[in-house]
Amino acid sequence: MFRLQTTTALRNISVLSLKASRNYSTIPLSVKIDLPNGITYDQPTGLFIDGKFVPSRQHKTFEVINPSTEEEILHIYEAREDDVEIAVEAAQKAFDSTWSTADPEFRGRVLYKLADLIERDSEILAGIESLDNGKSLFCAKYDVNLVAKYIRSCAGWADKVYGRIIETGDSHFNYSKREPIGVCGQIIPWNFPLLMWSWKIGPALATGNTVVLKPAEATPLSALYVSKLVQEAGIPAGVVNIIPGFGKIVGERIATHQKIKKVAFTGSTATGRHIMKAAAESNLKKVTLELGGKSPNIVFNDADIKQTVQSLITGIFFNSGEICCAGSRIYVQDGVYDEVLKAFKEASESLKIGNPFEEGVFQGAQTSQMQVDKILQYVDIGKAEGATLIAGGERLNQKGYFIRPTIFADVKEDSRIVKEEIFGPVVTVSKFSTVDEAVKLANDSSYGLAAGIHTQDLNKAVDVSNRIKAGTVWINTYNDFHQQVPFGGYGESGIGREMGADALDNYTQVKGVRIAINKKTV
Ligand code: ADP
Repeated sequence: MFRLQTTTALRNISVLSLKASRNYSTIPLSVKIDLPNGITYDQPTGLFIDGKFVPSRQHKTFEVINPSTEEEILHIYEAREDDVEIAVEAAQKAFDSTWSTADPEFRGRVLYKLADLIERDSEILAGIESLDNGKSLFCAKYDVNLVAKYIRSCAGWADKVYGRIIETGDSHFNYSKREPIGVCGQIIPWNFPLLMWSWKIGPALATGNTVVLKPAEATPLSALYVSKLVQEAGIPAGVVNIIPGFGKIVGERIATHQKIKKVAFTGSTATGRHIMKAAAESNLKKVTLELGGKSPNIVFNDADIKQTVQSLITGIFFNSGEICCAGSRIYVQDGVYDEVLKAFKEASESLKIGNPFEEGVFQGAQTSQMQVDKILQYVDIGKAEGATLIAGGERLNQKGYFIRPTIFADVKEDSRIVKEEIFGPVVTVSKFSTVDEAVKLANDSSYGLAAGIHTQDLNKAVDVSNRIKAGTVWINTYNDFHQQVPFGGYGESGIGREMGADALDNYTQVKGVRIAINKKTV
């Protein structure tokens, strides 16, 4: 997600000190919430363990904030280490007794049901995401739509996990089979709470694993709500366990747990590195990581300018810029540089930002005050580095964590706003002359999550795409996900792929079986 060097001091402030952890004897396990879009729903507040919502063992709770109003929404129970133990026990029991040995058709059937239920409750789920994360309802609806499609896609994979027959001559019969790994720990971030839930849960369940998942402390609500749908879909108790809590406590315990055989993480490169180390030092659990990015978005002279400007907007301002594959470094060829910069500035200034529930709003709130502080600090860094502020660079003059779409031009390629992930609606625009120069600039990053290429020349598009070091390349589009197309990073952007057939590899291990044929008994 993001890596910040200037703000080490900020980063070191423990999340725990920013979000009060309180002792309550008890809070209700469900609270009625009125969403600003007129929907009232029941929000679970307990941990979801072994098929039931339960208070945490220590009865601690933490507050959940609405980023659009800066006000508390409610308190929910906070998991601690002892809750992780119970969740892992439940997941292990479910793995051994029902799930890993079930007919894959059953796993597919309940996942199809889950996808249908997500579609049925899509308005509620989109509302929860906007309330909890601050993203516009427009973005939240996009997420929920992809979540349902992805869970349905995983349902389809459930009975298509194949091995191979390996010919080695008449003396033996050999085959390989793919088996589930066991209890998987999953740690997800706050920028796409429900979408990341689906990218983690879907392939794990389809392949017969059980999970203990920790949502981000800032955005735990949708993972708890959707647990009701997990129950309703008939997914057996213990297969999915959701334990909201803090990274340094619950996340740490998941990463170091001896009985957790795999950890999947999406978040900052710094935390990913830490988790990989913890996994290595505990039980060498398998690790997949989806981390930060500083993705180039390249515009050639022959691009369709109108369509390209739309892609540049979607590339950086979608999800309020809180997206690891954001096209945060724009490179424009010199023949169209002035035209593109002008059109991009106008388009960014005409975007509607503010209350995520308001009709037509494209960009909602950033998710936290901490995020706002970091983004604005980068705006100051950009100015100090001598870049020209073309648009934005400030908060909206109202309550809520809103920042105007921000564009910097005349940037130096070795400056911090070009090198470091900002994780907000801030983009740099640079000029280039030749194809080779564009490729060199694009690849000058330790990250390698995504890239965009805009041109009408298919030969150029494919050639540049081949030379770009990134896990995803979008041509004449951006932030354009499909449940069947793999997503993941080169370099410091991660390990493993999510979505599509490749995601199944993360959650299976291969067993090779060699049988000697005794011809004497034939
Ligand atoms: P950010 O810094 O933006 O919050 P993180 O990468 O720290 O991003 O957070 C992503 C997820 O990782 C969250 O669920 C968070 O609680 C979790 N996390 C944070 N620190 C740790 C840690 N030391 N071990 C395990 N998980 C952690």
